[in-house]
Amino acid sequence: MNAPPSARDLAALAAFLRERTRAEILADHPLAPHTTYGIGGPTALWAAPRREGDLPVILRAAQEAGCPLFVLGRGSNVLISDRGWPGLTLHVGEGLGRMRFSGAEVEVEAGCALHGLVVAAAARGLAGLEPLAGIPGGVGGAIRMNAGAFGREIAELLVAVRGFTAAGAVFEAGGDRLRFGYRSSPGLEGVVIAAARLRLEAGSPAALRRRVDEILELRARRQPLDHPSCGSVFKRPPGYYAGALIEEAGLKGEREGAAQVSPKHAGFIVNLGGATAADVHRLIRRIETRVFERFGVRLEREVRLVGAFDDDS
Ligand SMILES: Cc1cc2nc3c(=O)[nH]c(=O)nc-3n(C[C@H](O)[C@H](O)[C@H](O)COP(=O)(O)OP(=O)(O)OC[C@H]3O[C@@H](n4cnc5c(N)ncnc54)[C@H](O)[C@@H]3O)c2cc1C
Repeated sequence: MNAPPSARDLAALAAFLRERTRAEILADHPLAPHTTYGIGGPTALWAAPRREGDLPVILRAAQEAGCPLFVLGRGSNVLISDRGWPGLTLHVGEGLGRMRFSGAEVEVEAGCALHGLVVAAAARGLAGLEPLAGIPGGVGGAIRMNAGAFGREIAELLVAVRGFTAAGAVFEAGGDRLRFGYRSSPGLEGVVIAAARLRLEAGSPAALRRRVDEILELRARRQPLDHPSCGSVFKRPPGYYAGALIEEAGLKGEREGAAQVSPKHAGFIVNLGGATAADVHRLIRRIETRVFERFGVRLEREVRLVGAFDDDS
């Protein structure tokens, strides 16, 4: 990372963004409340746009100011450092949450809650999204992560993605032109997703609503939803399940401070209350070491670490 911008440069950037956009612009803003973990320090500068047209203005200004950029969706797949983020956090969230249905397609802004979209589609008798019910992310984060569950990945439904490069240039691509992998979207590296078009199929609203409820029940049965978390910390290694390896390595229930390998599902690290990012990070490292020593499997992280962490490799 480049040297963080000076307080003077940040103040000038904030003043410019307040004048030129209608986004919420805040200095030294806490990030923890914007994450499902409830963990993380403040961001030097926070910009939460309410209209797509402000995105390129913010991006261009941040780039010209040499200000490091972090794009935050609904914060359900990130672990933010206790020291926070030394640059600009661009929050593509509630302010960009509109959806518009047209026939079997929906055009949706990236900040829209994925679960809200699932429920709205089901109510209209549009099928395809139900397996993704209960995933607590936004549509942009879901596309960036190629979120998936119960045999469905969001990329399978994508007709087109619209967004901006870090320099503020328009980015547009058809879903079939973009490369997606398991929990990855190499074709969207460096792109801030603003909106997407998804294609769904006709179905019965009542049956779709039942399926959504079934999925929510399955999640509640299997996942430790009573404590804050980021979902699965690790990706599924080929031929294994991360949770099973962690459990067999004897790590279930182990703790670092107030972070714990969930006794219910070893693939989750939960915040028992007051956990720090350093606690979670130490537990992640312990799991990685123990699973490698025991099984020779290198776990790959699904959670995105944001900001500075000691001894990360
Ligand atoms: C209880 C729980 C259960 C979960 N279950 C699942 C599951 O079943 N399947 C699954 O795949 N995931 C699951 N997750 C993880 C998470 O919900 C998904 O990865 C989700 O799609 C992330 O979206 P977000 O908006 O929260 O992204 P964030 O956590 O805010 O960001 C994640 C990454 O996406 C980037 N990003 C976010 N928005 C944008 C944007 N507009 N443009 C460009 N980049 C962006 C961020 O920079 C970051 O790198 C679960 C999480 C929790 C807490």
